[in-house]
Amino acid sequence: MPNKELLLIPGPTPVVDEVYEALAQETRAHTDLRFAGIFSEALALTKQMFNTDGEVFVIAGSGTLSMEMALINTVAPGEKVLIVSHGYFGDRFLGVTNALGIKAEALVAEWGKRVSIEMIEEKLQEGGFKAVTVTHVDTSTGVMANLEEVVPVVKKYGALFILDGVCASAALEEDMGKEYGGKGNTIDVVLTASQKAIGVPPGLAIVAFGPAALAARKKMHKVSSYYADINNWIHIMREPYKYFATHPVNMIYAYHQGMKIIEREGFAARYRRHAAIGKAIRAALKTYNMHTLAPEEYAAPTLSCVLYPAGIDDEVFRASLAAKGVIVAGALGPLQGKGFRLGHMGNVTTEEFCKALEIIGETLKEQGHPVDPALAVKVYQEVFAKNMEK
Ligand SMILES: *Cc1c(COP(=O)(O)O)cnc(C)c1O
Repeated sequence: MPNKELLLIPGPTPVVDEVYEALAQETRAHTDLRFAGIFSEALALTKQMFNTDGEVFVIAGSGTLSMEMALINTVAPGEKVLIVSHGYFGDRFLGVTNALGIKAEALVAEWGKRVSIEMIEEKLQEGGFKAVTVTHVDTSTGVMANLEEVVPVVKKYGALFILDGVCASAALEEDMGKEYGGKGNTIDVVLTASQKAIGVPPGLAIVAFGPAALAARKKMHKVSSYYADINNWIHIMREPYKYFATHPVNMIYAYHQGMKIIEREGFAARYRRHAAIGKAIRAALKTYNMHTLAPEEYAAPTLSCVLYPAGIDDEVFRASLAAKGVIVAGALGPLQGKGFRLGHMGNVTTEEFCKALEIIGETLKEQGHPVDPALAVKVYQEVFAKNMEK
C-alpha cells in the first residue's frame, strides 16, 4: 500500500509498507503467547534504544498520555516542578501539572529562542523542585534542548530529569545510561509516542522510567489515576500475556516492526542520518530565501519551523503544496500565517525530500518568487552526503 501523499508534518510521519503489513496481521488475543513474544521483543528494543535497565511502558494512548504518566508517577500533588519551555509543547506541561494538582513554575523562552542555562540554575537555586521537564525538540518552534548542559545542572539540585522525546526519540540520542558530566547525572524519564520519528501510526504512548524515577513512584502510596499508574503495568510489561487492560494488539505489531527497522538501520546511524537531514533541509531552503525560526546552533534535526519570505500567503501556499501531494503543517501560536512546519524525521528517503523541495520550489514560483528548485535539490544532496561521511 504505497503512500499517496508525502506527509511532511511534525507527526504523524510517513508509514512504510513493512509497518503497514505488520499492522494488518491477524488480530490475536491480547493474552496469546505468540503476541506476547512479539511485544516482549518490542519492549526489549525500546530498552535498548533508551539504554535503560529500568522499565519501559508501551500502552494505548498518545504523547499527551505519556506526559501525564511521567508526572503522575513521580510528582505528588502539592509538590513542585520546573518546566523549561521552548514553545507550545513545553507549555503543555503547565496544563498537565494543573490538572494533576502539581505546583509548577515555568521558564518560557521567546519563540525560537532557548532558555539559558543560567536562568535554569538561578531558578533551581530557589530549591524545592521535585522534577524538571525539558522538551527535547519543541514541535512548535523546532528548538532543540541541550542535554549536555541541562542534565548536570538539574541533577546538581537533586531534581528528577523528565525528557519529552515525542518529536525526538529514535532520531536524537536519548541515552538513559549516559552520565552527563558526573556520576548519577542521568535522564530519569523519557516519554514519547509512536507517530513521530519512530515512524509508526499514532496510537501508542511510550514511557521509560530509570531507577530514580521508579524509586519516586515507590515512595508514593497511590496516584490519582488507574490507567496511567505504572504500578498497574510493571508486571504486565514483564509478562505481556497477562491482563490489566487490553493491549492494542495490531499497533504493537506495527510498533515491533517499526523498532526492527530502527535496529536494522542502527541507532547511531539513524541519529547521524537525522542530523544530516536537518542540515541539508535548512541549507536547501536557504536557496529559496527561507529560514528556520531556530538558529542553526539549536535547530532540530527532526523538524523545522520555516519562515516565509515576504509576499507568501500561508493558506494558498500550503493548499497548493497539498494539491501536489506534499502535506506540511501551519505554524502555531504567534507565528501562525508567518511560516509553516516541515517534519523531516522517521523513515523518509532522500528521494522523497528532494521531491518535496522541488514541489516547494514550484509553489514559490507560482507565487512570484523566482527560485531554482534544481539548485535546492543539489544543495540538499551535497550537504546530506557530506554530513553522512563524518
Ligand atoms: C506531538 C507532541 C506531543 C503530543 O503528543 P500527542 O501524541 O499529540 O498527544 C508532546 N510533546 C511533543 C514534543 C510533541 O511533539
